[in-house]
Amino acid sequence: MKTYTSDHFPLQLPAGHRFPASKYALLREAVKDLQGLELRDAPPAAWRDLQLVHEASYLWRVRDGHLSAAEQREIGFPWSQALVQRSLHSAGGTLAAAVAALGEGVAINLAGGTHHAHADQGRGFCVFNDVALAVRVLQQERCAQRLPVAVVDLDVHQGDGTAAILGKDPHVFTLSVHAAKNFPFRKCRSHLDVELADDASDEAYLQALEGALQTMFGAFDPALIIFLAGADPYAGDRLGRLALSMEGLALRDATVFDAAWRRRIPVAVAMAGGYAQPIADTVAIQTCTVQLALQAHARWSAWRERRP
Ligand SMILES: [Zn+2]
Repeated sequence: MKTYTSDHFPLQLPAGHRFPASKYALLREAVKDLQGLELRDAPPAAWRDLQLVHEASYLWRVRDGHLSAAEQREIGFPWSQALVQRSLHSAGGTLAAAVAALGEGVAINLAGGTHHAHADQGRGFCVFNDVALAVRVLQQERCAQRLPVAVVDLDVHQGDGTAAILGKDPHVFTLSVHAAKNFPFRKCRSHLDVELADDASDEAYLQALEGALQTMFGAFDPALIIFLAGADPYAGDRLGRLALSMEGLALRDATVFDAAWRRRIPVAVAMAGGYAQPIADTVAIQTCTVQLALQAHARWSAWRERRP
């Protein structure tokens, strides 16, 4: 299974910054020797491709270091050349995973899921919208905009940037399952938004997810699913507000992989958020996501071998 890492361009943050940047290297270490996993350096997204998603003036402000103090505050990271490189590779990893998933059934980006980035601004630790980039590039390259892509965004925060960019595209279905009272406080409309109350349990979450997937597949027949497997619905997450257990999150991931497999729809996974205390809990949740993705990938491989 092709697995893209952006750790060759680490997120270099000032000492004491509240974002747990160490989780990416810890995750890569935790999964790198898993059987069947092919670790690859994520390629950088091309500026030309990013123009399919973002306003040119925003892109040049990012590239040239001309983001205002307010814009940097919205993103939550200070501008640096390292941040630009990291953001390009993180977004490129999701596009590469989407392309690989179309060929092999399942692929994964160990970063990405930067769903709060809008066309004209970054927000909430997100500089470029990797999901929108993958969708727009695939639409351009394949089938003249007719490749139907579903975005299953299960990060605990609403995918507002993705919804703002793709929420009206009839060739895309954006599903966001999130905590109603959490960031972003001004939400954008996805094709389907499912809001959960504070402290929602495994049971409530899984029931809502089953219903949401049923509604989505009733309305839309995707050729690819981009799955944002945020670890932040976890009870121990500092920014989550929900109360899922690690077992509940594994069931969540299995629900998505099983639903996709039954319909033989490829899945590209991006990791999205995770802010548990200790951060090892986030890494354990994401490691489990990678293991389940490997199982799903193995089903695809066995199936392809059986076909004449
Ligand atoms: Zn999140």
